[in-house]
Amino acid sequence: MSPDPGPEDTLAARLLRGDKRALARAITLVESDDPAGWELVREVFPHTGRAAIVGLTGAPGAGKSTLIGALTKLRREQDRQVAVLSIDPSSPFTQGALLGDRIRLTEHFLDAGVFIRSMANRGALGGLSEAALQAALLMDASGKDDVFLETVGVVDDVDLGLPHADTVVLVLMPGSGDSIQALKAGIMEIPDVIVVNKADHPLTDTMVREIRGVLSLAPQRGWRVPILKTEAVRGEGVGELVAKMDEHRAWIEEQGTLSERRRRNLRAEVLGICTFRLRRRLEEALAEDEEFGRVLDEVVARRLDPASAATRILEQFDAA
Ligand code: GDP
Repeated sequence: MSPDPGPEDTLAARLLRGDKRALARAITLVESDDPAGWELVREVFPHTGRAAIVGLTGAPGAGKSTLIGALTKLRREQDRQVAVLSIDPSSPFTQGALLGDRIRLTEHFLDAGVFIRSMANRGALGGLSEAALQAALLMDASGKDDVFLETVGVVDDVDLGLPHADTVVLVLMPGSGDSIQALKAGIMEIPDVIVVNKADHPLTDTMVREIRGVLSLAPQRGWRVPILKTEAVRGEGVGELVAKMDEHRAWIEEQGTLSERRRRNLRAEVLGICTFRLRRRLEEALAEDEEFGRVLDEVVARRLDPASAATRILEQFDAA
């Protein structure tokens, strides 16, 4: 039997020293809901809060991963440590493909200063957002200066890790109106920075004008949302994007909104975990409950409506 590892060899200690394999192992633990993962996050949490967490969102194909590749390159040139977390809830069966597909990031795989990871759907109980935050915290604790959270989708952003970002970048491409519609309809929160990628496309300026129109209708929050044009494949405009990200970060720090935002994000996180655990407790309690079965029979027979059934169940749960 090998002797107990000394304190300097624990997973937490190795993680805090920036060991890439320890970080990978730690994320696997939280992703698989292993109590050791939660324990680890508890241990390293006091060492978090230093990284700049940037969320990049937008429809598939807009160029997010290409852009993240270009951003990573620039940040590495600035000698900053980078972590990338791709969150793709739509493809639970393609996790391998998701990573393999990240051709734009492959040049960074061997760089010790870059850590790349993807996460897919964890099933009906959700928890993806929670796992994503835990992963981001672990990345932060391991000394990464920049954490890029890449999320796919427009409508469900709120659930996909964006609430954890200090700065939210929306990536659009010319000629696709979905995201603009979502902004206009107020389905999507106004991001901090808007990027029109594929600026080599002839409809780029039309797109920029349209976005400007939508933003002029939105309430001003003090920060003027910049609309940047990039051509991620060639790295065009990426320097300006980095500058705007830094400017936004400095602005929220100065205004005190960074701590306010983090408080709001952490509140959402705590509530999310509570909801997740309550749901699990409820399901466990109901799994063996005969009364629940009887109530359900009533609903199936249309003698009781679902809302009244829920009220009855919850009264019983509260009394227990
Ligand atoms: P994601 O799904 O949002 O991550 O998008 P990707 O980064 O995978 O890019 C989708 C496709 O758009 C790829 O074939 C990229 O090479 C291409 N692409 C990315 N940026 C640009 C750009 O600035 N101009 C052009 N023409 N194509 C781009």
